[in-house]
Amino acid sequence: MLTGWEKAVFLLVLLGSLGATRTTFGNMFKIIGRGAIPIDWTTTFKRILPGILALLGKPLFKTRPVATIIHTGVSWGFILYMLVNLIDIIYGLFSGFHFLPDSIAGNIYRLFVDIFSIVVLLGVLYFLFRRFIQNDPALHINETVMLNEKARKGVFTDSALVAFFIFFHVGFRLLGASFEIALAEVDVFQPAASALASLWSDMSTGTLVFSEHAAWWLAIGLILAFIPYFPTTKHAHLFMGPLNHMITSNDHTAASFETIDFEDESLEQYGAALLEHLPQKNILDAYACIMCNRCQDACPAYITGKPLSPSAIEVNKRYYIRDHVSDLAKGKESGDRLADWMLSEDAIWACTSCGYCVEVCPVANEPMVDILRARQDLVMMESKFPKEAVATFKNLEVNGNPWGQSAQDRENWIGDLKVPMMREKGKAEYLYWVGCAGAYDSRGQEVSQAMVKLMNHANVDYAVLGTEETCTGDSARRLGNEYLFQMLAQQNIDTFDNYGVTKIITQCPHCLNALKNDYKALGKNYEVIHHAEFLAELVDQGKLSPSKASNANIAYHDSCYLGRHNDIYEAPRDVIKAIPGVKLEEFPRNKNEGMCCGAGGGRMWLEETLGDKTINLERIEDVKAVNPDEVATACPFCATMINDGIMAEALDTKTSSKDIAQYLLESITE
Ligand code: SF4
Ligand code: SF4
Repeated sequence: MLTGWEKAVFLLVLLGSLGATRTTFGNMFKIIGRGAIPIDWTTTFKRILPGILALLGKPLFKTRPVATIIHTGVSWGFILYMLVNLIDIIYGLFSGFHFLPDSIAGNIYRLFVDIFSIVVLLGVLYFLFRRFIQNDPALHINETVMLNEKARKGVFTDSALVAFFIFFHVGFRLLGASFEIALAEVDVFQPAASALASLWSDMSTGTLVFSEHAAWWLAIGLILAFIPYFPTTKHAHLFMGPLNHMITSNDHTAASFETIDFEDESLEQYGAALLEHLPQKNILDAYACIMCNRCQDACPAYITGKPLSPSAIEVNKRYYIRDHVSDLAKGKESGDRLADWMLSEDAIWACTSCGYCVEVCPVANEPMVDILRARQDLVMMESKFPKEAVATFKNLEVNGNPWGQSAQDRENWIGDLKVPMMREKGKAEYLYWVGCAGAYDSRGQEVSQAMVKLMNHANVDYAVLGTEETCTGDSARRLGNEYLFQMLAQQNIDTFDNYGVTKIITQCPHCLNALKNDYKALGKNYEVIHHAEFLAELVDQGKLSPSKASNANIAYHDSCYLGRHNDIYEAPRDVIKAIPGVKLEEFPRNKNEGMCCGAGGGRMWLEETLGDKTINLERIEDVKAVNPDEVATACPFCATMINDGIMAEALDTKTSSKDIAQYLLESITE
């Protein structure tokens, strides 16, 4: 189709585009490579399927169904257009070339391209309408959140630029097809292009030929101009999103993250103070980010008015990289503290590590891990942390529990109960891990008492450590004090080794997560069972038979560390459903979209002074909406926050709250 001089110009443009692409993509991977913890690229090849599913848009379908369906149509069309562009280039360079002419496959190809051209054009118009006319508030970030100055307008300009690129690229290609049809004959397999072609029936052959060439150049020229530009726009997510899914190995979950090797004397930095201190994966996150704000939609800190948006973290990283691309690619130290441009110190301490941002992100980003890394720097390198954390660290260090009560009082909850001690028994099938809340908090003590009564009733072979138990270190770790966490963890690991512990039962999801996931990162692999799973199993096996009817409406509050972090949603519900007469209610925000209580990430020990309201009161809005008789919990921190919220809103005359073990015990008759 192209003339000789057009082919020569095309080859020059192609070489220029490839050269520029090599530079921009090269810079992108050099900057990712600056990160502190390397990406294990070998997993990439083993995880082709998650990458393909991400490319096809599967992870988007977690929320926002309408926008997701339209986005999927646009991205599928765009992926198809990669093949189309290749075929169009061959068509332009080789006279007389037609892709699979007069064949079923060729007909299907042309039909698909024709349909997807219309889908992409309509989809782009929808996104332009949503962003610029409807001005959807979900696409904005609160003014209280630290956001790169250029980003507030830049994200919108970027979106407009890319939308117009896609619109014109696909539009000119469709026009080109219509001119080609006008020069030949109507093609029933290109209904849209044929309809357009009917508009050109009065045009001369010369004008049609010129128009076809012009449309080809505009369609192909736009893509050649845009490819090198990709890494500088948010649309790099088209490649980097699927890649992020491919580098995220199966056992890498939001529940835990890499430990610090304090024996390594070459380490000069703990946690992240600068961009290059973040793991490589977390720098890649910035390129993968769609800037869709799905992560902030239900971030408990953001929706209660705190200056934290997980989305802003990725946007800020991206704009920082864009502003310093050349220096970063050359390997120069960035020099700017994350707390000065990525997220403020107030934002760093506002996170409850609820995991919602990680769970919902369609491109496998982990803004939560950035926050926890930034906390490690503030705590271990700069000694800058909220004053309440000073007391928490001291209590953990001196007394082995965050309440600061005497380590000798750890067995006070036992009272007259018959509880086997590991030091007397020597060995048991299960270690019943009571946890600090179960040992010291009055509400937690009642849960521990219910648990041992249930286990005694079911003849479980268990024992407790009593004063030999010390805090798992979860709060220390989430508050950034990795050193203290490892110290406490090692103490417990030594005790476990002493008794040959392999199976652990606990009612605390934070203890569960630490023992199961954080200790695994320290090389220990225990079978850790949450009491919800254990009790559900005992009921299932007939070892516990709830028979006393209740007739209460019970709504179950999902704990973030049990649900999102450890994927345990059904077992607590099964325990409640096993009680005769109970009607199980669901909160509007439940399971993997459950609303945090506000106590995770060590926030249990910090004051909540920022924002429009406290996180537990935001959760109580759901209690008001459902109006149950009881709110069942399966986490001691949730229990405290929910009970405090119920009391604060004076709902306690109608609604009360207990742990699932307590409800189950009430239903067991001797
Ligand atoms: S972990 Fe939860 S609180 Fe922290 S940034 Fe993510 S969504 Fe917000
Ligand atoms: S981090 Fe994920 S969910 Fe948040 S804006 Fe980026 S792509 Fe969307």
